[in-house]
Amino acid sequence: MDFLTAKETEQQYLMQTYGRFQTLLTEGKGAKAVDCDGKEYIDFTSGIGVNALGYCNDHWLDAVTAQAGKLQHTSNLYYSEPMIRLAEKLCTLTGMDKVFFGNSGAEANECAIKLARKYGSDTYGEKHTEIVTLKNSFHGRTITTLSATGQAVFHQHFQPFTEGFAYGEANDLDSVVSAVTDNTCAVMVEFVQGEGGVCPLEKAFVKKLYDFCKDRDILLIADEIQTGIGRTGTLFAYEQFGVQPDIVTSAKGLGGGLPIGACLCVEKLGKVLGPGLHGTTFGGNPVVCAGALAVLEQVAEPSFLQAVAEKGAYLREKLQKMDGVESVRGLGMMIGVVLKDKQAGAVASACVEKGLLVLTAKTLIRFLPPLTISYEEIDCGLERFAAVLQAE
Ligand SMILES: *Cc1c(COP(=O)(O)O)cnc(C)c1O
Repeated sequence: MDFLTAKETEQQYLMQTYGRFQTLLTEGKGAKAVDCDGKEYIDFTSGIGVNALGYCNDHWLDAVTAQAGKLQHTSNLYYSEPMIRLAEKLCTLTGMDKVFFGNSGAEANECAIKLARKYGSDTYGEKHTEIVTLKNSFHGRTITTLSATGQAVFHQHFQPFTEGFAYGEANDLDSVVSAVTDNTCAVMVEFVQGEGGVCPLEKAFVKKLYDFCKDRDILLIADEIQTGIGRTGTLFAYEQFGVQPDIVTSAKGLGGGLPIGACLCVEKLGKVLGPGLHGTTFGGNPVVCAGALAVLEQVAEPSFLQAVAEKGAYLREKLQKMDGVESVRGLGMMIGVVLKDKQAGAVASACVEKGLLVLTAKTLIRFLPPLTISYEEIDCGLERFAAVLQAE
């Protein structure tokens, strides 16, 4: 299919919910993608933080194709080895007690919200189900996770939204405390707000928030859908903040390119959701779980995580010195670039022209490169980025 046919046919048959970049990608390997005209791109997006090991990583591909040729789906009516092994691996690596598998980030957060509400009402009475999230957060696109998202723009068009959410300012404990009531069962945060503009929480705030929650038996939910699976230089970002969340949600990078969501919980929550209380047809799919295992086998290695942290530091250092860059923020290979005078959307489109895939987040340029990217590919991508910033 050529680009113009793709564009016209997409317009005719797909709901027009996305503003797409003007390229039809057809294949990729590692941190390089190729479009229908054979043009090559350096990928600083990983499909929005999903392809943790880049395109078509050999080990991941072997795991996925072998499982697809053996047994592609069983439903949750039966035991399935890849799912069980993945759950064991996730719990062993994190010290969490149990996991539930769904198919997306929003679903992982839905599970977290149900789990927190059930724990709250079981333990403290039926009204004890309110959840506080942070302003400028992003938690998903279902009606309930839109409610959880602390941005007014997401609270339009689809009324009535799910009740029971209140919002506090990030890095302002007083503001969070004033959103808490006697019926608050949980506080949910991203340690680095991704869609909100790559804004890391302050360590002191996180520590105070953790102590506050622990005192009152308010559950701390870490939405690690974007920050998890090595993205920030540790398996999960919370490790760098010195706190232990009660619930951790994971998705994006976990599947290495296939859809998965996971909700992990500590021991006291392990039996809150019993038979029949939650489920999803595709959850724990064997092919997806085999791929996720291949991802974890590589990403969880200390030397791999160390390399992510180093590549992230290298990227930030180079960017800080670049003409046209006002400032750089983020953690590991989750990077936000504040531009001096150019518009992020226009810069991102110009990058595609130059053979570089980048993301935006609010008014920033955002980089989420595959964690396996080489220094040579980083340099090549940065050269193309600099050329775009310098163009008239
Ligand atoms: C992407 C994202 C989600 C939603 O994940 P989906 O897979 O798109 O449903 C939720 N929370 C955070 C922090 C995200 O980055």
